[in-house]
Amino acid sequence: MNNENIKSVISAQREFFKSNRTKDVSFRLEMLNKLKGAVIKYQDDIIKALYDDMKKPATEAYIAEVYIVLNEIDILLKETAKWAKPRRVKTPPVLFSAKSFIYPEPYGVALIISPWNYPFQLLIDPLAGSIAAGNCSVLKPSELAPATSVLIAKMIKEEFDPGFIAVVEGGIESSTALLAEKFDYIFYTGSTSVGRVVMRAAAENLTPVTLELGGKSPVIIDEDANLEIAARRIVKGKFFNAGQTCIAPDYLYVHFSIIDNLNFILKEKISEFYGEDPYVSSAYARIINDRHFSRLSKLISGNVIYGGKTVPAERYISPTIINNATWNDPVMQEEIFGPILPVMPFTDLESVISEINSRPKPLALYYFSNNSAKQEKILRETSSGGVCINDTMEHIISEYLPFGGVGESGIGAYHGRASFDAFSHAKSVLKKSFLFDVKLKYAPYRVSLSALKKILKILS
Ligand code: NAD
Repeated sequence: MNNENIKSVISAQREFFKSNRTKDVSFRLEMLNKLKGAVIKYQDDIIKALYDDMKKPATEAYIAEVYIVLNEIDILLKETAKWAKPRRVKTPPVLFSAKSFIYPEPYGVALIISPWNYPFQLLIDPLAGSIAAGNCSVLKPSELAPATSVLIAKMIKEEFDPGFIAVVEGGIESSTALLAEKFDYIFYTGSTSVGRVVMRAAAENLTPVTLELGGKSPVIIDEDANLEIAARRIVKGKFFNAGQTCIAPDYLYVHFSIIDNLNFILKEKISEFYGEDPYVSSAYARIINDRHFSRLSKLISGNVIYGGKTVPAERYISPTIINNATWNDPVMQEEIFGPILPVMPFTDLESVISEINSRPKPLALYYFSNNSAKQEKILRETSSGGVCINDTMEHIISEYLPFGGVGESGIGAYHGRASFDAFSHAKSVLKKSFLFDVKLKYAPYRVSLSALKKILKILS
């Protein structure tokens, strides 16, 4: 789509928004129902497109892309009417006779840009929030998952007026052209480096943003952890979608006294999940493209104690464990975003905390221990987008837990109520009547300063 077409898409959406149709909750619910119907209708095609793009296993595709989206739409269908209502709040005595409200209002035209790793979920989930809040939306799917991008464009075109929801496909050139335009809200999911590009563009128009970014998410396994269960939950989180998940465990800090034992069980679990040769497992995905395959292949070095096999023609990288990794290793320099798991021993929790705190704030942090004092210590002394105690990734599933990063892992959050709030401006409204009008507050000010101070003290 060229720049002129992009401009006309946005101006059609501005006209649509001006019609005030999206302000009606009944319209929003109708559109959410339409979206739900489309996802149900296309679910097999979605699973197939995800297989074509990265050989995503059908179960993973269904859970992480179809089910999560349908669940989010259902919550929004149930709650939007309530959340969209103006909320009465308290009024301070100094504003006696007035009434105060918060009116959630849509921003207008929202731009949603998504990455390739969960290319359906990460575009359609925020879209549901945008619809619920009453915005028009321009969607930019990732060019790196082309089959899913084409399918989304077809599905949206078939179901929605482009004045309300439109898809602009393409790569960096499309994103750049979109970001040169003025939007009322930008919701971006992707890498931290491109997040900076997006925020710079948004700053030109002072457009508010949600930035869902990435980073290295640590896992700490303490000496008292149940290793059997911990290993199972780590392997699940690390190798789901072949490690191409923003909140996948990036690396492990393991208490030195249990490291050999844990490594042994981790290997056992990998072969339990994916068989002796994960290459032939239908539960194991492929790397998205050659660039990422070659980037990841170069990270496999050092003390490889499991896996390390690659098949370039298929972009296959086997589940891999690197033991005794250090912060100087290539694999520890940036977010891995693939099926390579570095393991580092630790002796005291204090130094683990200070090492984590000396680096960018992670999107997720995982701690395995039953010691509640230590759990609280981790929660109090580290900062991350979210935390799972004694599991990995599952905090993303709850609609009651806002999902987002902090610092370099992101700005803002969504899911459930947080999705509605992300796409709404909370407008403060003070309503007064003509009944009372205290003349003393107008110029020329007849109350002495000392009397004024007394009155304000009584009122506050
Ligand atoms: P990416 O940043 O390369 O691409 C994301 C989107 O940005 C794509 O639509 C792409 O076309 C566009 N884009 C790429 N370069 C651009 C540029 N220079 N200017 C404007 N737009 C540009 O990200 P990715 O590789 O697709 O995704 C991987 C990253 O996303 C990882 O860091 C991962 O942790 C993160 N991620 C975060 C979340 C989250 O919810 N926080 C979810 C998934 C992925």
